[in-house]
Amino acid sequence: MERQDSLELSPPRVGSISGLGSSATQASLATLSSVLPPAVAAAGAEPIRMVLAGPPGGGKGTQADLIKKRWGAEHLSTGEILREEVKNDTELGRQAKEYMDRGELVPDDIMLRLVRSRVEKHDSFILDGFPRSLPQAEGLDQMLADLQKPLTAVVMLDVDEEVIVKRLLARGRPDDTEDVIRNRLKVYQQQTLPAIAHYRQQGLVESVPAAGAMDLTKELVHHRIENRLNKMVTLPAPISSSSLLEAPSTPGFSAQELLIQIDRLAEQGKAPYATSWTDQQRADLTQATKALLTSAIEARSAITLPELTKAAKLDIDQEVQAAELSPQLQKAGLVAMAIGGLSVGLGLWQSSPILGAVGVAVLASGALTSALHWTGAERHTQNAKALSGARDLLEGWSVTTPPPQAQP
Ligand code: AMP
Repeated sequence: MERQDSLELSPPRVGSISGLGSSATQASLATLSSVLPPAVAAAGAEPIRMVLAGPPGGGKGTQADLIKKRWGAEHLSTGEILREEVKNDTELGRQAKEYMDRGELVPDDIMLRLVRSRVEKHDSFILDGFPRSLPQAEGLDQMLADLQKPLTAVVMLDVDEEVIVKRLLARGRPDDTEDVIRNRLKVYQQQTLPAIAHYRQQGLVESVPAAGAMDLTKELVHHRIENRLNKMVTLPAPISSSSLLEAPSTPGFSAQELLIQIDRLAEQGKAPYATSWTDQQRADLTQATKALLTSAIEARSAITLPELTKAAKLDIDQEVQAAELSPQLQKAGLVAMAIGGLSVGLGLWQSSPILGAVGVAVLASGALTSALHWTGAERHTQNAKALSGARDLLEGWSVTTPPPQAQP
């Protein structure tokens, strides 16, 4: 089947662009892959080659297994491979052990050789825990260019530091003491984030909020991968003005300056567009970025790009929380309805108009809560999907845009 290049336009800001792919095709593809066993679904399909990034303890292993189940890609966890080498007391294991015990990175040349030997053997793979530094990312780019196996996406699981420390302490691996964990997080900030910035610049990053329930994270991750496989680009959803006002003031490149420069940067190829996108997709994304910036500037005239990114993250976090809370409120509404119904019954039986009236009120509010949240979770999930696209785009622009003092 020939894939269509298409744009997925995020509701409610943007309508569908006709002639750019049909949602029916996307829906039938999604249905097909959900009913076929992974091996069948993967056979003949486009290979998926991805980097699963995110802090240690961010849930990469769990999500990698779920991606493997769905698409049949090989899960290459460098941490696991290294632990295996240490266990078997190989030459490589002995070299790596001292670094691993301290929570430091094993030297890049050792890692690149190790990864190449695995990547050569598989057409579809999920790299988990690699690359962890800018030289590793550049080495990987070179390796994949040699092997003619371009990356589909870099999916980045986004979790706050405190959540991670708690999760890792609960996991209790020998290298999971609080000091070593804090050191691994420091290494992540200093060495791994630059590697992710490198991929942002290439338009490859899809960041997914991953602090919440595993199922929700899975849905958001799979949606992002499907988009990439179908060459869809998620366009920015509007960021709420309350989030824009709440974002703390951060120095940096202003949204206004970027708005003025944006066409020039796009022309110079400095925009964060994936190489696989069509000219039309790039142009549409430029337009959508401008619309997003314009509406943000209207809400707060001097807003900077880092602030705008923070505001988008704030919005996503709120949507994710709401998506998780919705089913609970729905249940609470049903309980309230049951209690209300009981009071109405009691009121009638006891001929007590007050009890009956209270019952009717509880019944009505219960029904309302349930109804409000029946579709709430789904809507919030959709918003979270769309907004994380907006955030990736803004971060991509922040990475590609030089700081203000470097401007002529
Ligand atoms: P992980 O299970 O991914 O947390 O990895 C455990 C340890 O293995 C890390 O703390 C590092 O010492 C080492 N390690 C795993 N992947 C890499 C990598 N890509 N580069 C350097 N060291 C790594």
